[in-house]
Amino acid sequence: MAKLYFNYGAMSAGKTIEVITTAYKYNSKGMKALIIKPAIDTKGGNFVCSRIGMSQKVDILLKSDDNLIDYLKNYSDITCLIIDEAQFLTEKQVLELVIITKDWNIPAICYGLKVDFQGKLFTGSEALIRYADDLNELVSICACGKKARFNARKVNNKYVFDGNQILIGEDESYDPLCETCFMNKVLKPYSKQFQAIYDKTVKE
Ligand SMILES: [Zn+2]
Repeated sequence: MAKLYFNYGAMSAGKTIEVITTAYKYNSKGMKALIIKPAIDTKGGNFVCSRIGMSQKVDILLKSDDNLIDYLKNYSDITCLIIDEAQFLTEKQVLELVIITKDWNIPAICYGLKVDFQGKLFTGSEALIRYADDLNELVSICACGKKARFNARKVNNKYVFDGNQILIGEDESYDPLCETCFMNKVLKPYSKQFQAIYDKTVKE
């Protein structure tokens, strides 16, 4: 029985590099590894692009209302599926991956962020944490040197806490931060919910 894998991490954990190298390992030996990317991730268009300059054309650009299984009917002899930006999969698409791995016996290797800029699980990540056979954390490093688990959003180079989960066309960037730095740099100054809790913990 094939497995569903979820390799998750914060920004700059090298996820897309692994997508490209994993696909290369299969395809260079004459096997067929399909690269899939949710279309909601518009950066790079038809390509997966790593921050260090590597890129690779995707085989399937998956819209949120698409059935993955309909696309796969166009292919034969698939060795495995490699999914980048898997945090953007819908729950239904994750369930399709359960069917593809368990019924069709094709492994699916997913790469994605675990949490959004507020520290909340993405829909796809939440479903993958529940359904994946194998969970593996890819490490990225906070500016303080500790392991980063959060993705703090910056707009015009300032941290923000409010806003939509997905921004399109804004001047935003993301910093991988550890728990302590996320609390000090983002939650304490910008989260009203956190401030209300934190104020009660400060001794008179
Ligand atoms: Zn830190």
